[in-house]
Amino acid sequence: MEEESSSKDKFARFDMKFLKQIGMFKRPRKYKNQISDEELLRDLERYKGYALKLGCDDAKIVPASMVKVDERVRLKCRISVCHHYNNCINCPPYTPTVEEMSRTISQYRYALVIKREVEPKDDFIDPKKEEDIARHYRKNMEIVGLLEAQAFSDGYYFAMGFAGGSCQHALCMMQPCSVLEGKRCRFVLKARPAMEAVGIDVIDLATKLGWEVYPVRARPIPPEEFPCAVTFGIVFVH
Ligand code: SF4
Repeated sequence: MEEESSSKDKFARFDMKFLKQIGMFKRPRKYKNQISDEELLRDLERYKGYALKLGCDDAKIVPASMVKVDERVRLKCRISVCHHYNNCINCPPYTPTVEEMSRTISQYRYALVIKREVEPKDDFIDPKKEEDIARHYRKNMEIVGLLEAQAFSDGYYFAMGFAGGSCQHALCMMQPCSVLEGKRCRFVLKARPAMEAVGIDVIDLATKLGWEVYPVRARPIPPEEFPCAVTFGIVFVH
């Protein structure tokens, strides 16, 4: 069961009326077995427009080959160990391996990468603001899920999204992962692994796209020294 706030703040869940207003989820499209680059890129431009209307600060269409996976990224979940490691089905060691992801990514042609600025940036930089961090990750996950669902309803049945942060933190607010207890995920349509949880080198990708990223949790640098904090997500479309 989805358990989100219906408050009207910037973290409120998007309702169907708003999604229709911005042009999403109008009608399904029939499946085709041949999709030209021209058609795919036209759809990706449309998804990019939706991403901006959903609150992203930027979104870029990239060839899937631009996305690199690296074993060192996934190893960072274990050394030093993250508290979600082995505690969430969407985190290592349960997520697809770097080898699986490398093979998988090579079968896609394009992806859409989204960026959201964290405002206020202290929400990410101040380690005491765990709930605020979770709200930013939750919104990011929701946008990734909606873009993936839009692509799926347009016939891109392999559309697959990855967000940022752990869904155990962002959605389940640190409750035990119900999937690891043999039950249904509480947020089955929204929970997605983080890009980093499947070994995607997010920093490499973001810097190649010209986006500024800082090591916001670096200690003991004071928070005011960080110019910005950002979250990212990606949807492989076809
Ligand atoms: S949203 Fe919760 S139940 Fe679902 S996979 Fe994540 S931690 Fe597990």
